[in-house]
Amino acid sequence: MNEPAIALHRLSRRYGTGNGTVTALDQVTLAFPRGSFTAVMGPSGSGKSTLLQCAAGLDRPTSGSVTVGGTELTVLSERRLTLLRRERIGFVFQAFNLVPYLTAEQNVALPLRLAGRRLSRARVREVLAQVGLAHRARHRPAELSGGQQQRVALARALITGPEVLFGDEPTGALDSRTGREVLEMLRGMAGRGGRTVVMVTHDPVAASYADRVVFLVDGRLNGQLTEADADEIATRMTHLEAATC
Ligand code: ADP
Ligand code: MG
Repeated sequence: MNEPAIALHRLSRRYGTGNGTVTALDQVTLAFPRGSFTAVMGPSGSGKSTLLQCAAGLDRPTSGSVTVGGTELTVLSERRLTLLRRERIGFVFQAFNLVPYLTAEQNVALPLRLAGRRLSRARVREVLAQVGLAHRARHRPAELSGGQQQRVALARALITGPEVLFGDEPTGALDSRTGREVLEMLRGMAGRGGRTVVMVTHDPVAASYADRVVFLVDGRLNGQLTEADADEIATRMTHLEAATC
């Protein structure tokens, strides 16, 4: 099947009305092939988070369409959208967003509880093992390093077996070494893992882990690079930022 995992068609998102209207996304058309790993870059305020939130069904676009595995999200009721998100989409954030009073394994199990699905302890342990944290299952977030917390958040995003994983600056709060570990994991989940991964980042080194980097400026696509190294990506970003200053 050549249908992309996610397809955005003329996606626009405006905030506010009248003179105060901000066009955060302006007619973005973009497809994410199955198993691909894409980085989204662009100056601050260029619409990266808005793109991710719309693609993940966390925000509703003003116009245009978003399809995930062939399902059009924009026509779904809130309830159907929530169900689809729980089953088919994983999301990790810069600030990890773990529940502080739950242990690692309880955090990972949370999406299953929310979905009313059978809680398999073995499955929770298996996913924690996949991110190298089997030995930290009973620890609370405050007892874990930043890199370990982000790996718990990754395990939590993976527990329902989503086809797509989104990350909004998932390595933004990590030092470069632990950031690299998380990036290696994301790359492994795409590729061999068969998941589709879409990550927003400011960091050209992080973006170089992706197969493709797409650039946004003022809510519009502004080209892409494939299989680029960090230097090429940094040069491109410098030009974009200079052009928008
Ligand atoms: P990025 O992630 O690239 O920094 P965002 O997607 O967060 O950019 O924001 C794109 C634009 O939309 C910015 O101008 C931002 O101020 C605006 N914006 C984002 N969210 C809101 C909101 N909830 N209300 C009003 N404006 C918003
Ligand atoms: Mg952002």
